[in-house]
Amino acid sequence: MDVYGLIGNPVEHSLSPPMHEAGYEALDLDARYVTFEPAADAGAEAIAAADTLAVDGLNVTIPFKQDVFEAVEPAPLAERIGAVNTVDFSGETPRGYNTDAVGAVRALAHHDVKLEGTAVVVGAGGAGRAVAFGLADEGMAVRIANRTASKATTLAAEVDGATGHGLDDLDDLLADAEVLVNCTSVGMEEDATPVPESALHGDLSVLDAVYSPIETRLLRDADAAGATTVDGAWMLLYQGVEAFELWTGETAPVEAMNRALRARL
Ligand code: NAP
Repeated sequence: MDVYGLIGNPVEHSLSPPMHEAGYEALDLDARYVTFEPAADAGAEAIAAADTLAVDGLNVTIPFKQDVFEAVEPAPLAERIGAVNTVDFSGETPRGYNTDAVGAVRALAHHDVKLEGTAVVVGAGGAGRAVAFGLADEGMAVRIANRTASKATTLAAEVDGATGHGLDDLDDLLADAEVLVNCTSVGMEEDATPVPESALHGDLSVLDAVYSPIETRLLRDADAAGATTVDGAWMLLYQGVEAFELWTGETAPVEAMNRALRARL
């Protein structure tokens, strides 16, 4: 039996176990997906222990993404992003990947969004970093806007062709943009949005990384403005699909995994 799982603290509300197990069931794979909750300072030890116990793959969430990055050999994209959310133990040494970037790209592609022109990424934390690199690698001109503008400028200096801004620039930035991705946590705790309603328009495709609630105020506003909307569960799904495919070598049963995920949101 293959063993995959998630390390995080806390992990009890994670949607990854039902999503991955639905995938194993659909493909009749002899595999399980379990959650582990090591102490907050024990990320590197957890990776070493998983390697010793011949665990096949691990997802990594808060607060371990940084510690685990240092405990594995990061793949080139994870190296640039500076964080790892997926570890593969099939080689000589544990190898770290960041599937959030590909998750956002595949979520947009699933909705036939053309990744051409300008993308505005709001947020410069973990998700913002991953999505900025992911969209730039697709050839998009990336504009990063963040509450703390200096963080956006610092990130932009690392991403090919990107520029960094404060949130006050959003009206101007979005006027010429094709894609908008919210990578802040705004909209999660309360019915709020980091993007002024006036900046949204019908030529935009809008992905909100926030998936709880599934319909955020940003997505409601975007829909009212005639934009294409993509909810955060699609990004969550495709970061999991990417990890599933990396670990198993199989094409993931996306429909089955999506059904299992949405049944729990
Ligand atoms: P993070 O590293 O803590 O970054 C948080 C970001 O939100 C920063 O850019 C921060 O700006 C901004 N922010 C926080 N409160 C704000 C406010 N009141 N007004 C304006 N900006 C604010 O978090 P993260 O890991 O990037 O996660 C961000 C969101 O993405 C979370 O909701 C998370 O659940 C979601 N996410 C979803 C997926 C998915 O698969 N769907 C994957 C990863 C993350 P400052 O720099 O100014 O503090």
